Amino acid sequence: MISLRPHILSRDPLQLERDFVLHGWEKYRAAQILKWVYRGVLDPMQIPNIPKHLREGLDDTYEFSIPLTVKESESEMDRSTKLALRLRDGRIVECVHLQTPRLHTLCVSSQVGCAMGCTFCATGKMGLLRNLEVWEILAQLLKLRMRAPEDRHVNVVFMGMGEPMVNYDRVLESIRVANDPRTLGLGARHFTISTSGVVPGIRKLAKEAMQVNLAISLNATTDTQRTKLMPVNKRWPIADLMLAARYYTENTQRRLTFEYVLLGGVNDTPGDARRLSKLTRDLPHKINLINWNPTPGAPYHPSKKPQVFRDILMNEGHQVTLRYSQGKDVNAACGQLGADLLAKAGS
Ligand code: SAH
Ligand code: SF4
Repeated sequence: MISLRPHILSRDPLQLERDFVLHGWEKYRAAQILKWVYRGVLDPMQIPNIPKHLREGLDDTYEFSIPLTVKESESEMDRSTKLALRLRDGRIVECVHLQTPRLHTLCVSSQVGCAMGCTFCATGKMGLLRNLEVWEILAQLLKLRMRAPEDRHVNVVFMGMGEPMVNYDRVLESIRVANDPRTLGLGARHFTISTSGVVPGIRKLAKEAMQVNLAISLNATTDTQRTKLMPVNKRWPIADLMLAARYYTENTQRRLTFEYVLLGGVNDTPGDARRLSKLTRDLPHKINLINWNPTPGAPYHPSKKPQVFRDILMNEGHQVTLRYSQGKDVNAACGQLGADLLAKAGS
């Protein structure tokens, strides 16, 4: 049965304090409780050093249980782990913990599925099932954060399932809550929102007080080519997208990231690299190249010569990384989230 109590993660620290005052509970307890909750103590009866009446009150007032991890897939190729979480309505959402010796990255989802329909992406094939709630995004962060050592900085990327700009308010609110030292204390500068090119979202983000990073999934350099790969390009073609990118960099003084998925024989020619160079040259940016990760039934191949593409860009003075996507063997790599779910559904 779906509980009607608000979820404890749906209350930001100030709201929780207000709730406490209304209930006649000591206000300072709110921060104390959040500290334990965000360390994974998700049962009021287990929270140390609080009076019994408060435990019982909390139990009556809030829902504490977070989505169950129904599958945990550890990559044998690297140290990434994919978690499949079952939400209260039975839907499954996936998130990934990526680690290198230097860096822990938490890759979270903003939606169940995605409506954008990019032809190279497994999540796109699912269609959009629904937006995630703020607390469902925070629950992913909480679970993934606990996998990294507490004294380590982590980066958070909205590169899991879904288009974060379509669930803009909830994504921003989850970042705001996660920033708070009373919850996870993750600095906004460590967050990156990745978008397929939803122009109004980019323009809105440019005006936010929060210092969140932006990544734009460009993936193609002509409108004809981009529209074939990413239907979103019909609505906001490359020229509009680049104007919004400029607006973002000018307003925030931040460098942005362009992501570019390399599809063998489709968008990986030297001409593509030169057009990409020209499009991005005048903006403060870096470029992340990702060789395509196979997804079921998609008519593409990875690029056979990603280094050639990278070198052209490097020679033209761009900062480029050719990302060897982690977690390919467990379908945890970019664009593969949802692939297991599709396979199960027989599509
Ligand atoms: N919807 C957002 C964020 C999630 S997708 C966006 O599109 O930006 C995160 C990244 O994975 C995007 O850059 C996307 O282009 C890339 N991607 C999608 N499918 C992929 C695949 N099969 N192989 C490699 N990268 C992929
Ligand atoms: Fe959605 Fe991003 Fe996949 Fe496109 S690449 S379908 S926007 S998740």
